[in-house]
Amino acid sequence: MNASPHILIIGAGLIGLSTADHLLRRGAAVTLIEMRSGPGKGTSYSNSAMIHPSQARPWFFNGTQLQANAAFYATYDLAEKSKHILEDRLKALGLFKKRDIPGCYKLYSTMEAARHAQEKYSNDGIMSRVVMDVKATLGHVALYFENDMWGNAYKYCEALARDLYVRGATFIYDANMARMRRNDEGVTLALDEHIFKADHVVVCAGPQSGDILATLGLNLFIDKLRGFSVNFERPSIDLPPAPLMDARSHSAMTIFDDHIRFSGTVGEESVRPLLKRWYELAPDIMAGLKPATEIWSGLRPMSKAGRPYIGPTDIPNLWVNTGHGHMGWTLSAGSGDLLARMILDGEVDERFAVVT
Ligand SMILES: Cc1cc2nc3c(=O)[nH]c(=O)nc-3n(C[C@H](O)[C@H](O)[C@H](O)COP(=O)(O)OP(=O)(O)OC[C@H]3O[C@@H](n4cnc5c(N)ncnc54)[C@H](O)[C@@H]3O)c2cc1C
Repeated sequence: MNASPHILIIGAGLIGLSTADHLLRRGAAVTLIEMRSGPGKGTSYSNSAMIHPSQARPWFFNGTQLQANAAFYATYDLAEKSKHILEDRLKALGLFKKRDIPGCYKLYSTMEAARHAQEKYSNDGIMSRVVMDVKATLGHVALYFENDMWGNAYKYCEALARDLYVRGATFIYDANMARMRRNDEGVTLALDEHIFKADHVVVCAGPQSGDILATLGLNLFIDKLRGFSVNFERPSIDLPPAPLMDARSHSAMTIFDDHIRFSGTVGEESVRPLLKRWYELAPDIMAGLKPATEIWSGLRPMSKAGRPYIGPTDIPNLWVNTGHGHMGWTLSAGSGDLLARMILDGEVDERFAVVT
């Protein structure tokens, strides 16, 4: 291998940027190719902001219990490592906030449901506390996951992209006509008249990763699970100090410095069910909101293996870092670190094998 290998990354979302971060730290030269006009404008743009290893269990997993457990333990282990790396990166970028109340809450409809869920989490080795508080949980029964965190993922993408640029990464935006081509040595990337050759190419294209790999004859199993997000100006009333997840609707309420966000849901066609649900859960807050400042929807890149795909493919110089589903913010830094170690140090981790 060259002293300073050149690595091409497709996609500048949380995962592509984090991969670039760790490759650069290890001495590689990095070019990011992004079809949108800036970093973090895909699924990473408006998520629920939670860095929550506690939620590492796969959603809607279609395999055996044994496979679900293997996927969970791998994801949880990576999420815990990722959380610590992410905390350091947030500090270095000036984005880390020490919270009065750390962690995240998950709301349940009854005490019995909360206790039942708590037992399941406990069997997975995840500690939680049952709470019911007028301010923190809006009077609902909840599990409190003290070891989770939260932070603004899009702000992180913007700050990390600036930092990467200063450290020497090359960014090519609006590259929506980039095409991968396969040859005997691996793949190259054609953009306009230019052919990019690199020692390695990494696909970090989130929900589009499967489509890109399909053009090379690889069949990566990824579902695109739509979620919604609505921002409102932050109302000047007493608000919960940490994000609230709703167990029933896979959605959350998150309070940022200047806005409040409702985000999530699965299998819905509009934002209506999301807002309806939060009118039920938080009527006093919802009633006082001004018109929404932004409405967005994005696709979670959901791996059918129940854990991300991180590693080499059958094509010699082609790597994949994708399929992070509902856990991509949580797993971003750890996934970038892991793939950098695989490419540059020859590390192997079959728990995240790319199945095509
Ligand atoms: C509503 C919602 C709430 C969520 N909440 C949380 C949460 O609280 N905590 C958590 O951990 N995770 C959460 N997630 C999941 C997390 O946001 C995603 O897993 C993560 O953003 C995926 O990052 P990514 O980099 O893989 O994908 P993306 O952010 O989509 O990045 C991929 C990039 O590749 C680019 N691209 C695609 N195709 C091409 C191409 N051909 N050429 C060039 N560029 C290309 C895209 O433009 C995009 O910028 C949530 C997701 C949703 C939808």
